[in-house]
Amino acid sequence: MSRIVLKFGGTSVANIERLEHVAIKVKQEIAQNNQVILVVSAMAGITNLLLSYTHALNPNHVTPEHDTVLSSGEQVTSGLLAMALNQIGIPARSFLSWQIPILTDSGFTNARITSIQTEELEACLKENCVPIIAGFQGLSPQGRLTTLGRGGSDTTAVALAAALKADYCNIYTDVEGVYTADPRLVPKARKLDTITYAEMFEMAAQGAKVLQARSVELAMKHRIPLRVLSSFVDAPGTNVIYERDLMEKALVSGIVHNQDEVKVTLVAVPDEVGMAAQIFGALADERIHIDMIVQNLSHEGRADLTFTTQKSDIERVVTLLEDIKEKVGFLDILIDRSIVKISVIGVGMRSNLEIASVLFKTLAEKGINIQLISTSEIKISVIIPHQHTPLAMCALHTAYNLDFDSH
Ligand code: ASP
Ligand code: MG
Repeated sequence: MSRIVLKFGGTSVANIERLEHVAIKVKQEIAQNNQVILVVSAMAGITNLLLSYTHALNPNHVTPEHDTVLSSGEQVTSGLLAMALNQIGIPARSFLSWQIPILTDSGFTNARITSIQTEELEACLKENCVPIIAGFQGLSPQGRLTTLGRGGSDTTAVALAAALKADYCNIYTDVEGVYTADPRLVPKARKLDTITYAEMFEMAAQGAKVLQARSVELAMKHRIPLRVLSSFVDAPGTNVIYERDLMEKALVSGIVHNQDEVKVTLVAVPDEVGMAAQIFGALADERIHIDMIVQNLSHEGRADLTFTTQKSDIERVVTLLEDIKEKVGFLDILIDRSIVKISVIGVGMRSNLEIASVLFKTLAEKGINIQLISTSEIKISVIIPHQHTPLAMCALHTAYNLDFDSH
């Protein structure tokens, strides 16, 4: 008997019909003698709807109430799926974070799991009852509901797999697995049979929505076999693995585009010790995530400072920057929303210096101007004007031999 954690994303539980389909799938797993633990997301679109409500009342501050509202979507799905299973004769019950509990820190909107109690879940499993855990939510040390950041139910699933010592964790979604690029943008994108944890982590961190980056980190740390697959079609999906077979080692395994970032430029920041510390310290205190940072050459004791951050945080960022503008002494704040970040990812990059030059050459040939560049061991990212996204993605996909007809 295997103990397995199955997580179903928003589109897989989008309506009653989909929920009934999931229930039948679960029944089949049980018939194969597997012990099943389920984790669910909110039904498709619900989290965004809830977010629009909290945003309308208060876009500038993070409050515990925001998490109380956002976490409610998963509660609905956990109860409905339990009902769907009961309807076909499978004992099942819903669990909310506080009923387990899944404890987190108090980083509202983006909390981290600190511990998971397993007694209640084990007791449920012992009675041959299927526990259905509302993903995405936790309980703060003060007893408030928290949420784990967008896409956080993936992390709930992996964390539960680790705590319950499950044999593996399947993440069910509406695509057949992890692709070399977003197939909606790049028609020649291929589904990958395997991808390494390191590559999957970078892809997720750079904006591929298929998994939350933290869930991949957690799976790697606890050695949880992880698989991404479709709940709509019966296909093997993508296995996340440790090392790729040397034989099939591609230099680049995927290209990710991210349209959720915005570029902020602080004009004429005094070129003095401690300026970056003041600016980024203020943003970090509010848990605002900063991605790329570039400081331009200084001129007459002042330099422009450019960085990228999440579009969803921009109102808070501007408010904070306005607050420190006088103290720090920069002259203006420029916001550019019409950018895209494109990241080329692959473990093969460690030993190949040409990857970067192919990137720059390909974009140059298409007449695309690069605004910012950043690199890490297995990825290179560039910021380019938003309107070039499809052209750049398709050209790079071809340049790195990722097109399905090039194999
Ligand atoms: N419902 C939450 C979101 O949309 C969590 C998740 O789906 O993983 O971000
Ligand atoms: Mg997701």
